[in-house]
Amino acid sequence: MNHNLFETFAEKMQARGAANFITTPEGGHYSYAEALARTERIAGALKELGVNPGDRVAVQVDKSPEAILLYLATLRIGGVYLPLNTGYTADEIGYFLGDAEPALFVCQPNALESAQAVAEKTGCPNVRTLGTSADGSLMDAVATAEAFTGIEQRSDDDLAAILYTSGTTGRSKGAMLTHRNLGSNAKSLVEAWRFTENDRLIHALPIFHTHGLFVACNVVLMSGASLYFMSKFDVDTIIAALPGGTTLMGVPTFYTRLLQDDRLTPELTANIRLFTSGSAPLTAETHQQFEQRTGHAILERYGMTETNMNTSNPYDGDRIAGTVGMPLPGVEIRITNPDNNHHEPLPQGDIGMLEVRGPNVFKGYWRMPEKTRAELLDDGFFVTGDLALIDDRGYVQIVGRDKDLVISGGFNVYPKEVEQVIDEMPEVVESAVIGVPHPDFGEGVTAVVVLVPGKTLEEADVIKALAGRLAKYKQPKRVFFVDALPRNTMGKVQKKQLRDDYKGIYSGDKV
Ligand code: ATP
Ligand code: MG
Repeated sequence: MNHNLFETFAEKMQARGAANFITTPEGGHYSYAEALARTERIAGALKELGVNPGDRVAVQVDKSPEAILLYLATLRIGGVYLPLNTGYTADEIGYFLGDAEPALFVCQPNALESAQAVAEKTGCPNVRTLGTSADGSLMDAVATAEAFTGIEQRSDDDLAAILYTSGTTGRSKGAMLTHRNLGSNAKSLVEAWRFTENDRLIHALPIFHTHGLFVACNVVLMSGASLYFMSKFDVDTIIAALPGGTTLMGVPTFYTRLLQDDRLTPELTANIRLFTSGSAPLTAETHQQFEQRTGHAILERYGMTETNMNTSNPYDGDRIAGTVGMPLPGVEIRITNPDNNHHEPLPQGDIGMLEVRGPNVFKGYWRMPEKTRAELLDDGFFVTGDLALIDDRGYVQIVGRDKDLVISGGFNVYPKEVEQVIDEMPEVVESAVIGVPHPDFGEGVTAVVVLVPGKTLEEADVIKALAGRLAKYKQPKRVFFVDALPRNTMGKVQKKQLRDDYKGIYSGDKV
């Protein structure tokens, strides 16, 4: 089947007609029919601005229903949607615009001037704001342009989006995602998670990331469900929304924050049929506490920018804490030896590099042919950079990232294993274990720990507590206490920053 993903969405939107597509706590609302009609008008404006099939449309805007309609209109005209993190500075945006060479850059009204300056430097021909602005609003073009009621023809292998990775391990890379990538993944998630037209998804994720944009919105569009769209995660708004929703897609920090609120009860969540978590590891403790408080076992799943969703705990069946479940239908995974380039599978239960193959796997990194060749193998497997094992029930456990592996005195130390033991101490909220350059060991295992407010611990207490639990080479040489771990908007701990913060500690430099 060769087609533009928007054709699938349009059919559903047409069929759903007056049914709710999207609402916001502020009273924003589009029915499916209204949303579909609106995409015709935005598509007309994009065409008038000279966006041709295959052209990139870079977008750095706050979350709103209009932003989703812009995404849909871009697909409609065969364009390549390119969302950018709203936290990026003008300099960072300059890099992305230079790399992606979009035909159009859409920004927030208050960023128009700096966006124009950056766009001029990078040769981007058009800049427009999504909201109202004195000049340069996309909506002015929408008001005057002729609607485009067609759908540009695309093949399954054509690009639908370029999505930059989160930049957790290095500079963000542009992942090229095709119509097939997005469509196949949305379809299998609808089936795996039983989405229907009766669902109302509480959406509190950002929409410049794969989780909030493709997982959440594409699943809704594919199933004809509706979106309750909040501009950002906020405990009060979520608590108010829970009785009216049927599903919540979250990152682990959503759940830890909800658990701090007394209003979280079984009654409050009685209407919810599914809570999911991903983008970062959910601790077994959070999983258990949430189940005890609400009766709901959070369904943890695992995905990434380059592949959308790879694995999921089952909808029916055991959702096992500390695992990310099993491969979705059509997705294959294998665990290989990371120490050589042979990519040969390891015995079941061994820790190794997680590799994935399937219609969900991206087409490569934008303008990075060498990196693409190194990570997207000839046999179709993608080398994820995540270390994992498959347990005897067939569930996948993510052990950490290849780049976070600490090699101390020649021994591999998996940070997660050490973090889990530290986190069991009653005084500890959470911890991050990193490798820091060490003159004798190459890397010194180093723990950064957040304590429960009001509790105290000394460095020696932590080291002593681990002594009987972990082999000597795994035990931290130094322990530091901080108020909070550095995290990005998706709740991912920024270990790169921690390694930088503590880099001089074993060579005599002060932190
Ligand atoms: P970069 O590739 O630029 O360093 P990134 O890998 O953080 O950044 P994303 O594509 O947003 O960018 O994140 C995917 C990664 O998130 C996965 O490779 C994995 O390490 C992590 N991840 C996602 N879901 C889970 C999960 N349920 N448990 C553990 N880790 C997860
Ligand atoms: Mg990555």
